[in-house]
Amino acid sequence: MPELPEVEVIRRGLAPRLRGRRFNGVAEGPHRLRRQSPAPDFSRWLPGRRVLDLRRRGKYLLLDLEGGATLLFHLGMTGRLLLTPGPPPPLPHVHLTFRLEGGLALLFQDVRRFGQALIFPPGMDLTPLEQVGREPLSPQVTARRLAKMARGRFRPLKNFLLDGRIMAGIGNIYASEIMFAARLHPAAPVGSLSPADWRRLLRHTRRILRAAIARGGTTINDYLDSHGRTGLFQLDLLVYGRHGEACRKCGAAIERLNQGGRSTFFCPCCQTPGAEQGREGRPDGACDAPFDNVSK
Ligand SMILES: [Zn+2]
Repeated sequence: MPELPEVEVIRRGLAPRLRGRRFNGVAEGPHRLRRQSPAPDFSRWLPGRRVLDLRRRGKYLLLDLEGGATLLFHLGMTGRLLLTPGPPPPLPHVHLTFRLEGGLALLFQDVRRFGQALIFPPGMDLTPLEQVGREPLSPQVTARRLAKMARGRFRPLKNFLLDGRIMAGIGNIYASEIMFAARLHPAAPVGSLSPADWRRLLRHTRRILRAAIARGGTTINDYLDSHGRTGLFQLDLLVYGRHGEACRKCGAAIERLNQGGRSTFFCPCCQTPGAEQGREGRPDGACDAPFDNVSK
């Protein structure tokens, strides 16, 4: 499922090719996305309007249009936005084809159809964004603020990280990687984390999200960028999808935990409570080495 880095990679790929370009029209496929504006709404607000800019909020991609309308996309589980020159190729599961000047076509392809494509007329509130929390890569998120939101709460850390109302755009893959890097157990009650834990968690959150963007995102099954290319960050994953394999830091077997119906991957040695300070009674010192020495 595309998370913040994948949507950001798509935004960066589309922006230079779409900015300043006019929409000509839209064609719908036989099936609808989970949330999709009616065809007359697209026809009213898109043709003839230029794309002014492309923005991202969490996992949402927003195209600001001349005249004030906004075209909003969410890729759901398996959505792709592919920009093709010339006549659109006959691909399966394309539910919307946006034609642009210069012969370009922007295709919304989505096997499972959990995606969203909505047009908002000028001045209308972008209601899907009302529940979107702060951007983890912006200075609006601070360790102090996270600690404050977690104070007195028994909620597991994994659920807290996945809550898009707290921090936007973090999903199942990056949550596992972030908690491993920060050496925090996914089931740790958030109220039990120290100020140092929150600082370390936020530092690794930003480092991992930036690294994933630089690598073009993570492709496990479906994700492709707007050029149709896979990402590369799956090669850098240290715990996600690796249950039963050796931890690259300490050699212990990576475990899988079911949290809220979703799999979390973690190292039982590196992510024990207190692991970041080193802990007495360890069989060896493997898990006490600085994380940055991890080999890939
Ligand atoms: Zn380990």
